[in-house]
Amino acid sequence: MVVELRSRQCAPRCPSCGTISPRVHSRYPRQLRDVPCIGHAPRLMLTVRRLRCETPTCPRRFFTERFESFARPYARITERLRTLVTRVAHALGGRPGARLA
Ligand SMILES: [Zn+2]
Repeated sequence: MVVELRSRQCAPRCPSCGTISPRVHSRYPRQLRDVPCIGHAPRLMLTVRRLRCETPTCPRRFFTERFESFARPYARITERLRTLVTRVAHALGGRPGARLA
């Protein structure tokens, strides 16, 4: 199961200076794993925007839009799946948790 997603954020904020930046530099695909759905492990194909910070004093010229409640930066799994795996690991431990997951 493959789900293609695209952000609906109007203009993301620069993580360094907090300025809203509507200037899109490029886009790239990001692949995430999510919690199982009807017995399948879905792959989320997310199109992420790379933006340009227009503040002259900002040390970061380019940044990638963030999805704070959905997935952490550089993560390959969603926050929902991370929470699920963490709970299984805490409840069952290493090998039993890995067998169940
Ligand atoms: Zn900035």
